[in-house]
Amino acid sequence: MISVNEALAALFAQVTPLPAEAVDLSRAAGRALAVDVVAAHDQPPFAASAMDGYALREADARPGAVLDLAGHVAAGHPGDAPVAPGTAVRILTGAPLPPGADRVIMQEDVTRDGGRITLNLVGPNSHVRARGCDFARGARLAAPRRLRPADVALIAAMNHARVRVARLPDVAILSTGDELVVPGSPLGPGQIVASNAFGLAAMLAAEGIRARILPIAADTMAAHHQGLALAGAADLIVTIGGASVGDHDLVAKAAGEAGFDLAFHKVAMRPGKPVMAGRRGGQLMLGLPGNPVSAMVCATVFMIPLVRALQGLPPGPAPRETHPLAAPLPPNGPREHYLRARLDPDGVRGFARQDSSLLTVLAEADVLIVQPPGHDGGAAGDPIEVIRLQGA
Ligand code: AMP
Ligand code: MG
Repeated sequence: MISVNEALAALFAQVTPLPAEAVDLSRAAGRALAVDVVAAHDQPPFAASAMDGYALREADARPGAVLDLAGHVAAGHPGDAPVAPGTAVRILTGAPLPPGADRVIMQEDVTRDGGRITLNLVGPNSHVRARGCDFARGARLAAPRRLRPADVALIAAMNHARVRVARLPDVAILSTGDELVVPGSPLGPGQIVASNAFGLAAMLAAEGIRARILPIAADTMAAHHQGLALAGAADLIVTIGGASVGDHDLVAKAAGEAGFDLAFHKVAMRPGKPVMAGRRGGQLMLGLPGNPVSAMVCATVFMIPLVRALQGLPPGPAPRETHPLAAPLPPNGPREHYLRARLDPDGVRGFARQDSSLLTVLAEADVLIVQPPGHDGGAAGDPIEVIRLQGA
């Protein structure tokens, strides 16, 4: 059985990044920047006042100086008359500094008497934003990068209305199992609700991806083949359940028959051992276990890093943070253990109940503790790595 890191490496090795497309800036947040953005101008494009006050020459900036007011400039209303020695111009925040002026005295530091001001206080700050102090023409926001709100603002400031980002992957989710019914159905004998597809779709939605939830496939080869066919040209097919080696676990067999080459099947982790991944041409499949928590944990560990890599973002595992243990854990066996846990002020605390069917416990959890194979459980205060759950 391969380790989680080996499985991730095998998964990333199958990825061909999706092509780029141009989107309006209003749709760019959360998308993966595909092409560097280059600033079209200096920012600010002119030396600008950082304050409401008076623009004047540095040589006139002496306490007690009396200066004649020779004009008025405001944001969007520049003046081109030079500021002569012994004069000042009324200036408002954001206005370009008139020619000749190289500093601003804020209005609070001035006494005004009609067309004249007396400088009371001359501080060290010129209150001038130099041309290009934010960025210079030609400055770059480098790809690849997942665009955060500040990045979107920066691209707009660089004077671009559209930006090139990776196309979002088309993801199809296929639940498998004779026992499954869609949420909202009356439950017949032995039936359970197919909850996982909705949890996974929600995880993808948080990544900006609207997944397609396919009809549930019964535990027959024909139904599995039909499900895989319904996925059409999806970039990624995520199957749920049927991943182990029971008589009713048909996903690996169906995927093989349908032409997928499996890169791995079974990973040394818990929950989630029977996870698998494969590729057919440009199409990837990720086979997740059926137990609800296993599916969500495997999606955190594999599916989200995979959809990011598909968008050309640097391939890497789910980010980890280190926190102290609030209490010791049970000793671990040979598989990496992803324990549902809460982040408290005194550290991270694993829940007592870790069964992989318990969605209530997952819903209470903030993080997954990553307990290495063979870890002795540690002691309170020992550092341990965790993965923050989406939205927590
Ligand atoms: P399987 O991997 O198909 O053996 O399923 C393992 C367990 O997860 C069984 O108890 C299934 O009933 C349950 N299960 C499978 N698929 C889903 C699903 N889509 N939603 C909720 N539970 C599921
Ligand atoms: Mg099943």
